[in-house]
Amino acid sequence: MQKPSATRIRSCLATARPWLAALALLAPLTLPAPATAAAAATTASPADLARFDNFKARKGIPMELKQVAPDLWFLYDDLSSNAAFLVTDEGVLVIDSRQHPQHGRELIAMIRKVTDKPIRWLVNTHAHGDHYYGNPPFREIGATIIAHRDTVAGMIKNEKLEFSRRQAFFRSQNLDPKEVRTVLPDMMFDTTLRIGSGQRVAEIFYWGPGQNPGDTMIYFPHAKAVFIGGPFARKNWSNMSFSPSIDGWITLLNKVAALPVDLFLPGHGDVSTREDVLDEVKLLADVQTEVKKAIAAGMTREQIVKELRFPQYANLRNYERIDVFLEALHHLFTTGRPMFPYH
Ligand SMILES: [Zn+2]
Repeated sequence: MQKPSATRIRSCLATARPWLAALALLAPLTLPAPATAAAAATTASPADLARFDNFKARKGIPMELKQVAPDLWFLYDDLSSNAAFLVTDEGVLVIDSRQHPQHGRELIAMIRKVTDKPIRWLVNTHAHGDHYYGNPPFREIGATIIAHRDTVAGMIKNEKLEFSRRQAFFRSQNLDPKEVRTVLPDMMFDTTLRIGSGQRVAEIFYWGPGQNPGDTMIYFPHAKAVFIGGPFARKNWSNMSFSPSIDGWITLLNKVAALPVDLFLPGHGDVSTREDVLDEVKLLADVQTEVKKAIAAGMTREQIVKELRFPQYANLRNYERIDVFLEALHHLFTTGRPMFPYH
């Protein structure tokens, strides 16, 4: 297992300008121009977008901010998406900004109830709007927004697709879509980035795509915790439309499950155990096997979508969207490309 390097990048916070120190250790930063409609071209048809824009508000579990370690908080938001923050001596590191600028402001208010330290860094774990549309207020307060290079590319490439996919959610929650804009990260990384000092650090790392190219995880060794934004969601049928390889996704989750941690903090769902992560591995493997078997047996896309069912997973969040997920897997296994490539 390749553990996040503790030595490759020396503590960013050892200097007065820690993020600049970190920046100097990265590849030259060439931030793309702000996304435009032209840059956001996608191969998805309006019909595809409509089918994927099918959020239905469920009876929500109340949102809860959980202190999972003396300096680490996890926001469990069943209806939307999770976030987390680590309070270091030098400032606050936030993981994911949630689904709307209003959500970002709420998260900042929650942090302010815990600490008055400056909010210095925000990591966007992957290029799905439900995890980064809260970026604008973090930009306004001067936080440095960090993401993997491929996540930034995905934000630009699929800007229109993401915005379309979120409309039903915005409507259901009375959130103003006109307030939403893509605020791109300031700083990109490729493999590992370390923030913090002494016993209190966060290792931001990339081990390759799981659900998405750019899937970033954050390891907190002192808290024996890891945040897994895109590739893992507890008791959830993850959207399989973006992954370039289900086998790669499985390999990634198995590696993450082998980390020496007790707390697995997912992008969706409550605080999790190693077994929860391995449950998702089993789901991915089972579904991949069945869809590949069906294709080998000559079933058409339409037959697979209509006939394949997984009653053992019917209790999972998102199971009602099985049709589009099966269609996406058929697309991946017959073309070698994800239905919605983010890269
Ligand atoms: Zn999500």
